[in-house]
Amino acid sequence: MATRLSGIRLAKRLDEVGFSGIVQVRNKVMELRAEGHKVLGFHGGEPFFDTPQEIKYAAIKALVENQTHYAPSSGLLPLRQALVEKLATKNRIRATVDEVIATVGGSHGLYAAFQSVLDPGDDALVFSPYWTPIADLVTGTQARPLFVPTVSARRNGIRKTLNQFSTPHTRAIYYNTPQNPSGVVFTRTEAEEVAAFAIERDLVVIADEAYEDLVYEGEHVSIASLPGMAERTITCFTFSKTYSMTGWRADYTVAQEPFMTALRKIVLYSTNGVPTPVQFAMIQALKTPEADIARRRDEYRQRRDLLVAGLNEVGLECPPPAGAFYAFPNAEIVNKYSRTAAQILLQKALVATVPGDFFGAQGEGHLRFSYAVSLHEIESCIDALRKFFA
Ligand code: PLP
Repeated sequence: MATRLSGIRLAKRLDEVGFSGIVQVRNKVMELRAEGHKVLGFHGGEPFFDTPQEIKYAAIKALVENQTHYAPSSGLLPLRQALVEKLATKNRIRATVDEVIATVGGSHGLYAAFQSVLDPGDDALVFSPYWTPIADLVTGTQARPLFVPTVSARRNGIRKTLNQFSTPHTRAIYYNTPQNPSGVVFTRTEAEEVAAFAIERDLVVIADEAYEDLVYEGEHVSIASLPGMAERTITCFTFSKTYSMTGWRADYTVAQEPFMTALRKIVLYSTNGVPTPVQFAMIQALKTPEADIARRRDEYRQRRDLLVAGLNEVGLECPPPAGAFYAFPNAEIVNKYSRTAAQILLQKALVATVPGDFFGAQGEGHLRFSYAVSLHEIESCIDALRKFFA
């Protein structure tokens, strides 16, 4: 007898949404390690450092003191007050406690931002190469990402290039600085160009400042701090990178109305807020002296310099990235297709990287190496590459 299962199907809006290709690399690495191979892992995107002790103790104290009940879904007031203070002093973004919201990871903030702004049929400009989930976050709203090549935009003029790639349906720009995977840090002049374009075309900017504390050359400019931008910008920040808190899923977003109402609804119905003890850890993290953050940045800079020198020495041409913790060398001497190049390095040198085309067509020909690893691992990687290229 024929069964009638036609009602059992997935929501169509998920058809175009993919899973990050990086998961495939991670699985392959786990497989090789299970077979006993010593794989050097440069594919991840998380700090090798542990969360500072005082942040962990703040969460433990909150648990012991029974701070285990519901908190306001936007975040505890003392947390939002500390965030307002941080945004004013560090980012020059003036916000009230009602204009910040705690989110369960920067990814959650970005999800809420795209969901708040985009409708089916809209277009969003995305500088490319881009952090892989972004295309899926855009298509998940049934909007379309329009990829703007960062390299040529910087060469030919940001405003002119954005104009070229824009359509009458464009509603938003995703603006990530420092960038994952390229390490590009947009200059103040470039930020001003993006801002001028957004104002001229009446667009919303979704700013992703996950790596705001990892700038080695130049300055970090929060686009929402530029004149006329706070009212059209949703800025997503994360505790993951600065404080080595990837597993805590602790982050926040700042925006004005009408965005805040939408963000609150999405946070309320998706997670109903960040776990209460984690919010106490966030309050503690925000007390970290700037000198400690600068010291950590120096440790990343040391890793960047060591890795980039090694990559250039073996012929993987790589200008020093100005920010974040990724090197993005040209890998065409291994293979012109980045997926094949990554496979070859994984199999022959036991070095795991991410193919550049996972970050969009503009990333093809490159490999992403994360240097958020130990100095020893970087040295071992360079040795392995030297042998491979010998
Ligand atoms: N934005 C960028 C560019 C990232 O690379 C990441 C993480 O890798 C995030 C946002 C989100 O990080 P999380 O969800 O850990 O806060």
